[in-house]
Amino acid sequence: MTAYQRRQTVVVDVGGVKVGGTHPIVVQSMTNTDTADVAATTAQVRALHQAGSELVRVTVNNEAAAEAVPAIVAQVDVPVIGDFHYNGHLLLTKYPRCAAALAKYRINPGNVGAKRRDENFRAIVEVALAHGKPVRIGVNWGSLDQQLLTEMMDENARRPDPLDARDVMLEAMVASATRSAELAEECGLAHDHIILSAKLSGVQDLVEVYRRLAERCDYPLHLGLTEAGMGAKGIIASAAGLSILLAEGIGDTIRVSLTPRPGGDRTEEVQVAQQVLQSLGLRNFTPQVTACPGCGRTTSTFFQEMAEQIQSHLKAQMATWRARYAGVETLRVAVMGCVVNGPGESKHADIGISLPGTFEEPKAPVYVDGRLLVTLRGDAIVADFLKILEEYVETRFGAAAGAAAR
Ligand code: SF4
Repeated sequence: MTAYQRRQTVVVDVGGVKVGGTHPIVVQSMTNTDTADVAATTAQVRALHQAGSELVRVTVNNEAAAEAVPAIVAQVDVPVIGDFHYNGHLLLTKYPRCAAALAKYRINPGNVGAKRRDENFRAIVEVALAHGKPVRIGVNWGSLDQQLLTEMMDENARRPDPLDARDVMLEAMVASATRSAELAEECGLAHDHIILSAKLSGVQDLVEVYRRLAERCDYPLHLGLTEAGMGAKGIIASAAGLSILLAEGIGDTIRVSLTPRPGGDRTEEVQVAQQVLQSLGLRNFTPQVTACPGCGRTTSTFFQEMAEQIQSHLKAQMATWRARYAGVETLRVAVMGCVVNGPGESKHADIGISLPGTFEEPKAPVYVDGRLLVTLRGDAIVADFLKILEEYVETRFGAAAGAAAR
């Protein structure tokens, strides 16, 4: 049970992954390799999946990419979504094996062609119908349908009390998504084969657009702050925007659009998405470590080194633990820096250690299920704590797994 009431949406099946309704909020991601490079794209899809991405999107931007898709899909165990702009109607009709291999098509209604917009849109929907695939109608403010925006701006100008331009733009984002969904249904696509998104790069605008979408339709909503940016800015802005909406029960699948550093780790976007959901109590993915920030009471690197060793151990063990210990992702560990908050915080966790601060006696009390278990001393405090941790995980989650199996 979470404290947040999920908004009711229809359920869309994306290659076996259920999106919407009361199903867990799905984490997804997108590759940044050249899709035509089968080896590189397959490797990245696998890495994203391994990190926890439950759906992975690849760009299908040209004929070589469309040709590569079936080979990529054949080598991975996660539903792959095709991202189409400008020429999706051509690629999906010319490459039926690509259309058949993909689990869903993302259509950007602002990028399906100006003159033959509806005709091209219909062509993609007809391919989706022929292959029984769902679509995501993915509006993006960087490529908002200019014809629609102009019409709405003109209409607004004729009003006795015109809205401001921002409001009209936000309304155009919503209208582009909902009108395209209507058109898709007119073409025969089932109501439960449509997911909507309307991404912007400003947090307040994003929140406003999704609130309006949530009020007006029951399609599952794919959330994401587009072009979130690099590093801390991208992570924090994404977390801020997504958290407001998720706390209001809005959102059925999320993606965090981080710009990686050159040569950086693409899977970071998956870790951030998971952490947002886990921080809000919506899903559990990995044990949570409560660590104090340290202060003048931890002037040496002793505390940071110990905290890092314990966190690294948890991360390294998770691949094995996940397979062996059902429910281990709900484990809460506290790693604290001194006696001020250490014992209290450790008692609130499943297992916690209060490390000695500067000038404190070199001893570290360990708490298990709220009670003092032992006080560690000497040079092997971390190793001793990790041993206790391993025993705790085996006792608590090994037994649970055994009981569930019986
Ligand atoms: S628990 Fe101790 S070391 Fe950590 S921040 Fe608080 S006072 Fe500082």
